Amino acid sequence: MTEKNILNKTLSSITKKSLQKNGFIVHEADDKAEAITILEELIDKNAIIGYGGSRTLDEIGFHTIFTIRDYPNLLDRNIPDISREVKQSIQKRTLSAEIFISSANALTTEGDLILIDKWGNRNAAATYGPEKRIFVVGTNKITSSLDEGLKRARNYAAVQNNIRFNTGNPCTTKGHCVQCDSKERLCSVTTIISKCQPVNSAIILLINEDLGF
Ligand code: SF4
Repeated sequence: MTEKNILNKTLSSITKKSLQKNGFIVHEADDKAEAITILEELIDKNAIIGYGGSRTLDEIGFHTIFTIRDYPNLLDRNIPDISREVKQSIQKRTLSAEIFISSANALTTEGDLILIDKWGNRNAAATYGPEKRIFVVGTNKITSSLDEGLKRARNYAAVQNNIRFNTGNPCTTKGHCVQCDSKERLCSVTTIISKCQPVNSAIILLINEDLGF
């Protein structure tokens, strides 16, 4: 095991205890393959499943396993060529899904989750509506405090997302957030989840790998 793996395990262990204290259920996976196996165990094939946009879910192969063929009630917002209206309708239905799956933009060793979003649809489903929420998070997103977590979400995750979607917003050339007034900013809603309500209704799946942003 590399030094980085050992450090990640340590951070993961501290974060796990804090998350449990805050009412979350925590599962740990050593890698993407184990994460998919855990998700298959957690998610009923017939459940109404919604998900949020997430590079982490892309990277673990979520979308190749969780398809409408095997999960017929999947609310799939990634169907090719769907209109903006249909996608928005799926996003609204996701708010009342039985299970919502997403990542987060930062975790703290104190047991907080931080999500940053353009519209807030992901943040809404992450906090209210779906009976079970599952957050799939790489250990690279663990930060040492709420302050550091917010900095990560704003100055790293939001900037990477702007680069990903080629928005041309100031952060894409400056390399950090300048709290711009762009109509195209992808980071208008920031949510901090400090306690799981109701207790044990949300699951954090921590993966000991660098994933997403
Ligand atoms: S507020 Fe503007 S500058 Fe800051 S991350 Fe968002 S788009 Fe970039």
